Amino acid sequence: MLTILFSARPDRWNQYEDPLNGALDHARIGPFRVVTEAPRAEVDYIVYAPNGGLTDFSVFPNLKAVLSLWAGVETIVGNTTITVPLARMVDSGLRAGMREWVVGHVLRHHLGMDADIMGTPGVWAPRVPPLARDRSIAILGLGELGTACAEALSALGFRVSGWSRSPRTLPGVTCHSGADGLATCLQQAQIVVLLLPDTQATQNILNSETLARLPKGAVVINPGRGPLIDDDALLAALDRGQVAHATLDVFRVEPLPADHPFWTHPGVTVTPHIASETRPDTASLVIAENIRRCEAGQPMLHLVDRDAGY
Ligand code: NAP
Repeated sequence: MLTILFSARPDRWNQYEDPLNGALDHARIGPFRVVTEAPRAEVDYIVYAPNGGLTDFSVFPNLKAVLSLWAGVETIVGNTTITVPLARMVDSGLRAGMREWVVGHVLRHHLGMDADIMGTPGVWAPRVPPLARDRSIAILGLGELGTACAEALSALGFRVSGWSRSPRTLPGVTCHSGADGLATCLQQAQIVVLLLPDTQATQNILNSETLARLPKGAVVINPGRGPLIDDDALLAALDRGQVAHATLDVFRVEPLPADHPFWTHPGVTVTPHIASETRPDTASLVIAENIRRCEAGQPMLHLVDRDAGY
Protein backbone atom coordinates (compact mmCIF):
# COMPACT_ATOMS: atom_id res chain seq x y z
CA MET A 1 0.00 0.00 0.00
CA LEU A 2 1.53 3.31 -1.11
CA THR A 3 0.97 6.23 1.23
CA ILE A 4 0.78 9.63 -0.42
CA LEU A 5 0.79 12.52 2.02
CA PHE A 6 -1.02 15.64 0.87
CA SER A 7 0.74 18.57 2.54
CA ALA A 8 -0.79 21.89 1.56
CA ARG A 9 -3.22 24.45 2.96
CA PRO A 10 -6.24 22.62 4.44
CA ASP A 11 -8.67 24.19 1.96
CA ARG A 12 -6.68 22.65 -0.88
CA TRP A 13 -7.49 19.15 0.33
CA ASN A 14 -11.18 19.68 -0.48
CA GLN A 15 -10.20 20.61 -4.03
CA TYR A 16 -7.69 17.81 -4.56
CA GLU A 17 -9.10 14.79 -2.70
CA ASP A 18 -11.38 13.55 -5.49
CA PRO A 19 -9.28 14.43 -8.56
CA LEU A 20 -6.11 13.04 -6.98
CA ASN A 21 -7.75 9.76 -5.99
CA GLY A 22 -9.32 9.53 -9.45
CA ALA A 23 -6.05 10.20 -11.26
CA LEU A 24 -4.13 7.70 -9.11
CA ASP A 25 -6.83 5.06 -9.71
CA HIS A 26 -6.56 5.69 -13.41
CA ALA A 27 -2.73 5.42 -13.31
CA ARG A 28 -3.03 1.84 -11.99
CA ILE A 29 -0.21 2.15 -9.48
CA GLY A 30 -1.64 -0.58 -7.25
CA PRO A 31 -3.06 -0.10 -3.77
CA PHE A 32 -2.60 3.43 -2.44
CA ARG A 33 -4.06 5.91 0.02
CA VAL A 34 -3.91 9.70 -0.12
CA VAL A 35 -3.96 11.19 3.35
CA THR A 36 -3.29 14.44 5.16
CA GLU A 37 -1.72 12.66 8.14
CA ALA A 38 0.16 9.38 8.44
CA PRO A 39 2.89 7.75 10.52
CA ARG A 40 6.06 9.27 9.08
CA ALA A 41 7.76 5.96 8.29
CA GLU A 42 4.82 4.97 6.07
CA VAL A 43 4.98 7.99 3.78
CA ASP A 44 6.14 7.19 0.23
CA TYR A 45 5.36 10.45 -1.58
CA ILE A 46 4.55 13.99 -0.52
CA VAL A 47 2.31 16.20 -2.65
CA TYR A 48 3.52 19.55 -1.48
CA ALA A 49 2.75 23.25 -1.28
CA PRO A 50 5.16 25.32 0.83
CA ASN A 51 2.36 27.26 2.52
CA GLY A 52 1.10 24.05 4.15
CA GLY A 53 3.74 24.46 6.84
CA LEU A 54 5.93 21.37 6.31
CA THR A 55 9.64 22.20 6.16
CA ASP A 56 11.51 19.22 7.64
CA PHE A 57 11.47 16.26 5.27
CA SER A 58 14.18 14.36 7.15
CA VAL A 59 11.49 12.86 9.39
CA PHE A 60 10.18 10.71 6.51
CA PRO A 61 12.73 7.86 6.31
CA ASN A 62 11.09 6.05 3.38
CA LEU A 63 10.20 9.02 1.22
CA LYS A 64 10.64 8.44 -2.53
CA ALA A 65 9.85 11.86 -4.04
CA VAL A 66 8.36 15.28 -3.35
CA LEU A 67 5.81 16.52 -5.89
CA SER A 68 5.32 20.28 -5.79
CA LEU A 69 1.91 21.75 -6.52
CA TRP A 70 3.64 24.99 -7.48
CA ALA A 71 5.59 25.82 -10.65
CA GLY A 72 7.94 28.17 -8.80
CA VAL A 73 10.18 26.29 -6.37
CA GLU A 74 12.39 29.07 -5.01
CA THR A 75 11.26 28.42 -1.43
CA ILE A 76 11.77 24.64 -1.72
CA VAL A 77 14.90 24.21 -3.80
CA GLY A 78 17.29 25.15 -1.01
CA ASN A 79 15.67 22.80 1.53
CA THR A 80 18.54 20.46 2.39
CA THR A 81 16.21 18.02 4.15
CA ILE A 82 14.83 17.02 0.73
CA THR A 83 17.24 14.32 -0.41
CA VAL A 84 14.86 12.60 -2.84
CA PRO A 85 13.80 13.75 -6.33
CA LEU A 86 11.82 17.01 -6.32
CA ALA A 87 9.37 17.59 -9.18
CA ARG A 88 7.81 20.97 -9.86
CA MET A 89 4.34 21.54 -11.26
CA VAL A 90 3.87 21.69 -14.99
CA ASP A 91 0.15 21.73 -15.65
CA SER A 92 -1.91 22.43 -18.76
CA GLY A 93 -4.35 24.44 -16.64
CA LEU A 94 -1.53 26.57 -15.24
CA ARG A 95 -0.23 27.11 -18.75
CA ALA A 96 -3.66 28.09 -20.12
CA GLY A 97 -4.27 30.49 -17.24
CA MET A 98 -0.92 32.25 -17.72
CA ARG A 99 -1.42 32.48 -21.47
CA GLU A 100 -4.80 34.13 -21.01
CA TRP A 101 -3.62 36.54 -18.29
CA VAL A 102 -0.56 37.63 -20.28
CA VAL A 103 -2.44 38.01 -23.58
CA GLY A 104 -5.14 40.01 -21.79
CA HIS A 105 -2.71 42.43 -20.18
CA VAL A 106 -0.61 42.75 -23.34
CA LEU A 107 -3.73 43.62 -25.35
CA ARG A 108 -4.77 46.19 -22.74
CA HIS A 109 -1.52 48.08 -23.23
CA HIS A 110 -1.19 47.39 -26.95
CA LEU A 111 -4.66 48.75 -27.73
CA GLY A 112 -4.53 51.52 -25.12
CA MET A 113 -7.82 50.27 -23.68
CA ASP A 114 -7.53 52.49 -20.60
CA ALA A 115 -8.19 55.55 -22.76
CA ASP A 116 -11.72 54.28 -23.43
CA ILE A 117 -12.42 52.54 -20.13
CA MET A 118 -11.45 55.66 -18.19
CA GLY A 119 -12.44 58.12 -20.94
CA THR A 120 -14.29 61.39 -20.37
CA PRO A 121 -18.07 61.15 -20.94
CA GLY A 122 -19.08 63.21 -23.99
CA VAL A 123 -15.61 63.25 -25.53
CA TRP A 124 -15.68 61.51 -28.91
CA ALA A 125 -12.03 61.14 -29.97
CA PRO A 126 -11.55 58.35 -32.48
CA ARG A 127 -8.05 57.05 -33.08
CA VAL A 128 -6.65 54.28 -35.25
CA PRO A 129 -5.71 51.35 -33.05
CA PRO A 130 -2.29 49.83 -33.72
CA LEU A 131 -1.86 46.35 -35.17
CA ALA A 132 -0.02 43.53 -33.44
CA ARG A 133 2.43 43.26 -36.32
CA ASP A 134 3.77 46.69 -35.40
CA ARG A 135 4.34 45.84 -31.72
CA SER A 136 7.50 44.20 -30.34
CA ILE A 137 7.21 42.05 -27.26
CA ALA A 138 9.99 40.33 -25.30
CA ILE A 139 9.33 37.37 -23.08
CA LEU A 140 12.10 36.79 -20.54
CA GLY A 141 11.95 33.06 -19.76
CA LEU A 142 10.99 30.62 -22.49
CA GLY A 143 10.01 27.67 -20.32
CA GLU A 144 6.59 26.06 -20.00
CA LEU A 145 4.77 29.32 -19.36
CA GLY A 146 6.92 31.73 -21.36
CA THR A 147 6.69 29.50 -24.42
CA ALA A 148 2.90 29.24 -24.16
CA CYS A 149 2.65 33.05 -23.99
CA ALA A 150 5.18 33.61 -26.77
CA GLU A 151 3.32 31.23 -29.08
CA ALA A 152 -0.05 32.82 -28.36
CA LEU A 153 1.27 36.36 -28.91
CA SER A 154 3.07 35.32 -32.07
CA ALA A 155 -0.14 33.70 -33.36
CA LEU A 156 -1.88 37.06 -32.86
CA GLY A 157 0.74 38.66 -35.09
CA PHE A 158 3.01 40.36 -32.52
CA ARG A 159 6.74 40.55 -33.16
CA VAL A 160 7.88 38.30 -30.34
CA SER A 161 11.37 37.72 -29.05
CA GLY A 162 12.38 35.68 -26.04
CA TRP A 163 15.28 35.06 -23.74
CA SER A 164 16.34 31.88 -21.95
CA ARG A 165 19.43 30.46 -20.22
CA SER A 166 20.13 27.86 -22.89
CA PRO A 167 19.58 28.55 -26.61
CA ARG A 168 16.05 27.72 -27.80
CA THR A 169 14.26 27.52 -31.14
CA LEU A 170 10.59 28.42 -31.32
CA PRO A 171 8.61 28.98 -34.52
CA GLY A 172 7.60 32.63 -34.86
CA VAL A 173 9.79 33.74 -31.95
CA THR A 174 13.25 35.33 -32.20
CA CYS A 175 15.14 33.53 -29.46
CA HIS A 176 18.09 34.91 -27.52
CA SER A 177 20.23 33.63 -24.68
CA GLY A 178 23.15 34.85 -22.61
CA ALA A 179 24.01 38.38 -21.49
CA ASP A 180 24.30 39.80 -25.02
CA GLY A 181 21.00 38.15 -25.89
CA LEU A 182 19.27 39.93 -23.02
CA ALA A 183 20.53 43.33 -24.18
CA THR A 184 19.35 42.68 -27.75
CA CYS A 185 16.01 41.38 -26.55
CA LEU A 186 15.34 44.42 -24.35
CA GLN A 187 16.43 47.02 -26.92
CA GLN A 188 13.41 46.28 -29.10
CA ALA A 189 10.87 45.42 -26.43
CA GLN A 190 7.93 47.82 -26.31
CA ILE A 191 6.35 45.35 -23.90
CA VAL A 192 8.47 43.05 -21.73
CA VAL A 193 6.93 40.05 -19.93
CA LEU A 194 8.85 38.38 -17.10
CA LEU A 195 8.41 34.62 -16.83
CA LEU A 196 11.72 33.67 -15.27
CA PRO A 197 12.07 31.66 -12.07
CA ASP A 198 13.40 33.39 -8.97
CA THR A 199 17.04 32.25 -8.71
CA GLN A 200 20.29 33.92 -7.72
CA ALA A 201 20.98 34.52 -11.41
CA THR A 202 17.63 36.16 -12.18
CA GLN A 203 17.11 38.38 -9.14
CA ASN A 204 17.00 42.07 -10.10
CA ILE A 205 17.28 41.16 -13.77
CA LEU A 206 15.24 44.31 -14.40
CA ASN A 207 17.39 46.98 -12.76
CA SER A 208 18.35 50.55 -13.61
CA GLU A 209 20.77 49.38 -16.30
CA THR A 210 18.48 46.88 -18.03
CA LEU A 211 15.41 49.14 -17.73
CA ALA A 212 17.43 51.85 -19.51
CA ARG A 213 17.89 49.49 -22.46
CA LEU A 214 14.15 49.35 -23.13
CA PRO A 215 12.70 51.75 -25.71
CA LYS A 216 11.35 54.85 -23.93
CA GLY A 217 7.75 54.35 -22.83
CA ALA A 218 7.94 50.56 -22.67
CA VAL A 219 5.51 48.51 -20.60
CA VAL A 220 6.65 45.96 -18.01
CA ILE A 221 4.42 42.98 -17.19
CA ASN A 222 5.57 40.72 -14.35
CA PRO A 223 3.70 37.49 -13.61
CA GLY A 224 7.02 35.73 -12.79
CA ARG A 225 8.32 36.58 -9.31
CA GLY A 226 8.76 39.82 -7.38
CA PRO A 227 12.55 39.64 -6.89
CA LEU A 228 13.08 39.70 -10.67
CA ILE A 229 12.62 43.48 -10.46
CA ASP A 230 14.56 46.09 -8.50
CA ASP A 231 11.48 47.94 -7.18
CA ASP A 232 13.24 51.29 -6.66
CA ALA A 233 14.74 51.19 -10.15
CA LEU A 234 11.30 50.46 -11.62
CA LEU A 235 9.68 53.33 -9.71
CA ALA A 236 12.44 55.70 -10.89
CA ALA A 237 12.00 54.49 -14.50
CA LEU A 238 8.23 55.06 -14.23
CA ASP A 239 8.73 58.55 -12.81
CA ARG A 240 10.92 59.66 -15.71
CA GLY A 241 8.70 58.03 -18.36
CA GLN A 242 11.28 55.43 -19.37
CA VAL A 243 8.62 52.88 -18.40
CA ALA A 244 5.09 54.00 -19.23
CA HIS A 245 3.30 51.36 -17.16
CA ALA A 246 4.01 48.28 -15.08
CA THR A 247 1.45 45.54 -14.52
CA LEU A 248 2.67 43.50 -11.56
CA ASP A 249 1.18 40.26 -10.25
CA VAL A 250 4.03 39.20 -7.96
CA PHE A 251 6.01 41.04 -5.30
CA ARG A 252 8.96 40.67 -2.96
CA VAL A 253 6.53 40.66 -0.04
CA GLU A 254 3.05 39.19 -0.52
CA PRO A 255 0.45 40.38 0.18
CA LEU A 256 1.95 43.65 -1.08
CA PRO A 257 2.19 45.86 2.06
CA ALA A 258 -0.49 48.57 2.24
CA ASP A 259 2.10 51.35 2.26
CA HIS A 260 4.05 50.11 -0.78
CA PRO A 261 4.29 52.84 -3.46
CA PHE A 262 3.17 50.38 -6.14
CA TRP A 263 -0.39 50.58 -4.76
CA THR A 264 -0.79 54.27 -5.49
CA HIS A 265 1.58 54.93 -8.38
CA PRO A 266 -0.53 55.96 -11.40
CA GLY A 267 1.74 53.96 -13.70
CA VAL A 268 1.35 50.68 -11.83
CA THR A 269 -1.40 48.07 -11.94
CA VAL A 270 -1.31 45.60 -9.06
CA THR A 271 -2.94 42.18 -9.33
CA PRO A 272 -2.83 39.91 -6.26
CA HIS A 273 -0.75 36.96 -7.54
CA ILE A 274 -3.62 35.61 -9.61
CA ALA A 275 -2.00 35.37 -13.04
CA SER A 276 -2.29 31.61 -13.02
CA GLU A 277 -3.26 28.85 -10.64
CA THR A 278 -2.58 25.12 -10.60
CA ARG A 279 -5.84 23.36 -11.54
CA PRO A 280 -6.63 20.26 -9.44
CA ASP A 281 -8.10 18.17 -12.28
CA THR A 282 -5.12 18.50 -14.62
CA ALA A 283 -2.44 18.81 -11.92
CA SER A 284 -3.63 15.53 -10.36
CA LEU A 285 -2.96 13.74 -13.67
CA VAL A 286 0.62 15.07 -13.65
CA ILE A 287 1.19 13.96 -10.06
CA ALA A 288 -0.26 10.48 -10.71
CA GLU A 289 1.86 10.05 -13.83
CA ASN A 290 5.00 10.98 -11.91
CA ILE A 291 4.22 8.52 -9.11
CA ARG A 292 3.51 5.84 -11.73
CA ARG A 293 6.88 6.58 -13.35
CA CYS A 294 8.75 6.48 -10.07
CA GLU A 295 7.11 3.18 -9.10
CA ALA A 296 7.96 1.73 -12.53
CA GLY A 297 11.59 2.87 -12.26
CA GLN A 298 11.12 5.29 -15.19
CA PRO A 299 12.52 8.83 -15.32
CA MET A 300 10.23 11.28 -13.52
CA LEU A 301 8.91 14.38 -15.27
CA HIS A 302 9.68 18.03 -14.44
CA LEU A 303 12.48 17.36 -11.98
CA VAL A 304 14.04 20.44 -10.44
CA ASP A 305 17.70 21.12 -11.21
CA ARG A 306 18.88 21.96 -7.70
CA ASP A 307 22.10 23.59 -8.96
CA ALA A 308 20.28 25.87 -11.40
CA GLY A 309 17.62 26.58 -8.75
CA TYR A 310 14.55 25.85 -10.90
P1 NAP B 1 10.37 26.91 -16.51
O1 NAP B 1 9.67 25.98 -17.44
O2 NAP B 1 11.38 26.37 -15.57
O3 NAP B 1 11.05 28.04 -17.42
C1 NAP B 1 11.94 28.97 -16.90
C2 NAP B 1 12.58 29.73 -18.05
O4 NAP B 1 13.46 30.72 -17.52
C3 NAP B 1 13.42 28.83 -18.96
O5 NAP B 1 13.31 29.23 -20.31
C4 NAP B 1 14.83 29.09 -18.44
O6 NAP B 1 15.86 28.89 -19.38
C5 NAP B 1 14.74 30.56 -18.12
N1 NAP B 1 15.81 30.93 -17.20
C6 NAP B 1 16.05 30.46 -15.96
N2 NAP B 1 17.17 31.03 -15.46
C7 NAP B 1 17.62 31.88 -16.40
C8 NAP B 1 18.73 32.75 -16.49
N3 NAP B 1 19.62 32.87 -15.49
N4 NAP B 1 18.90 33.47 -17.62
C9 NAP B 1 18.03 33.36 -18.65
N5 NAP B 1 16.95 32.54 -18.64
C10 NAP B 1 16.76 31.82 -17.52
O7 NAP B 1 9.33 27.71 -15.64
P2 NAP B 1 7.77 28.00 -15.95
O8 NAP B 1 6.95 26.81 -15.62
O9 NAP B 1 7.68 28.59 -17.32
O10 NAP B 1 7.46 29.10 -14.84
C11 NAP B 1 8.18 30.35 -14.84
C12 NAP B 1 7.90 31.07 -13.53
O11 NAP B 1 6.58 31.60 -13.54
C13 NAP B 1 7.93 30.19 -12.28
O12 NAP B 1 9.25 29.97 -11.84
C14 NAP B 1 7.13 31.01 -11.30
O13 NAP B 1 8.01 31.85 -10.60
C15 NAP B 1 6.21 31.86 -12.18
N6 NAP B 1 4.78 31.54 -11.99
C16 NAP B 1 3.95 32.55 -11.61
C17 NAP B 1 2.58 32.29 -11.45
C18 NAP B 1 1.63 33.40 -11.09
O14 NAP B 1 0.45 33.15 -10.83
N7 NAP B 1 2.05 34.63 -11.06
C19 NAP B 1 2.09 31.00 -11.67
C20 NAP B 1 2.97 30.01 -12.04
C21 NAP B 1 4.33 30.29 -12.21
P3 NAP B 1 16.12 27.43 -20.03
O15 NAP B 1 15.03 27.28 -21.06
O16 NAP B 1 17.45 27.56 -20.65
O17 NAP B 1 16.03 26.46 -18.90
